[in-house]
Amino acid sequence: MARVKVAINGYGTIGKRVADAVSLQDDMELVGVAKTRPNFEARMAIKKGFSLYAPRERIETFEKAGIEVEGDVQSMFENADIVVDCTPNGIGEKYKQAYLDAGCKAVWQGGEKHEVAGFSFNALSNYSDALGRDLTRVVSCNTTALCRVLHLLDAAYGVKKSRVVLMRRGTDPSDVKKGPINAIVPNPITLPSHHGPDVNTVLPELPITTLAVKLSTTLMHVHAVNVELKDVPSSDEVIDMLSNEPRVLLIGSDVGSTAEVIEMARDAGRYRYDVWENVIWRDSITVKDGELYLFQGVHQEAIVVPENVDAIRAMFELEQDGATSMSITNEKMGIGGLRD
Ligand code: NAD
Repeated sequence: MARVKVAINGYGTIGKRVADAVSLQDDMELVGVAKTRPNFEARMAIKKGFSLYAPRERIETFEKAGIEVEGDVQSMFENADIVVDCTPNGIGEKYKQAYLDAGCKAVWQGGEKHEVAGFSFNALSNYSDALGRDLTRVVSCNTTALCRVLHLLDAAYGVKKSRVVLMRRGTDPSDVKKGPINAIVPNPITLPSHHGPDVNTVLPELPITTLAVKLSTTLMHVHAVNVELKDVPSSDEVIDMLSNEPRVLLIGSDVGSTAEVIEMARDAGRYRYDVWENVIWRDSITVKDGELYLFQGVHQEAIVVPENVDAIRAMFELEQDGATSMSITNEKMGIGGLRD
């Protein structure tokens, strides 16, 4: 079968990473990336050999900045079988008709509402439900991490109830405009935060309540997870079960913070220090009075990237089996390579 032609609309934090991940796959081909601002990222995209596109009304700005674009975004969509929309929250929905008019399938990110695609995706949780679909939304970084771990726990032991406190990074490292700089912000102050309902767009039956705060850090999120299980395992059984999943990375207490997780990824030579796995502190995994507790870290810039690759593979039925697709994506990207 010919390789699936993939276009990336929105070449920012997520878009540039999905572009790289798609380029690594044998069954996909990157036909172009699109941006609105003629900045250093646009120059870098061209240096990497990517075809750069821009919305028609922005092309002149690129030309004035001395950056050559291949054409307008519409022509990029027409060259593609699928568009992965990585535009900022709420913009992607506005492109829906343009994707449909160009005859493309489309994947949106978690900043868009579930309704834009009518289907929300996490590879471990519902790969088979994405087979042959035209429209899919890959859930956000926090929701991806929660779906992975709660799906695994539910499949192994049955989840009776889950409660999660999300300690969220304030913004991404390259974002100079947002904070907080010196505050902890309950966000939202009312319960639940949107993350629990968002998990239910993928795992509708899973009982979950979430609370979230924003912190003055940019590196990663941390979740404090507490789950009541139907069949109560020992802590060691949970560790064994989670250690079999490449998209989960169990780490020791010597990696004592998100800063050290990132340093570990740097030391390992991970491009952009990306950590695609749920990072779970092994020593935090505790079963007490029938309930499981753990801490997990989430590298918000990276975790959804392999999910986008698997979503494309499912939508074109390049692999019928989710485990096979994930193992191809894992192998091409190097996921699992940080395990002991
Ligand atoms: P970003 O701001 O880093 O990048 C957005 C890109 O879209 C930029 O390159 C910008 O030039 C481009 N853009 C803006 N308006 C456009 C338009 N009208 N047409 C084409 N391109 C346009 O955003 P991001 O952080 O990569 O977020 C993208 C999506 O991914 C959002 O839905 C977000 O919620 C989701 N997401 C973000 C993170 C994260 O932590 N950054 C994690 C998971 C999911």
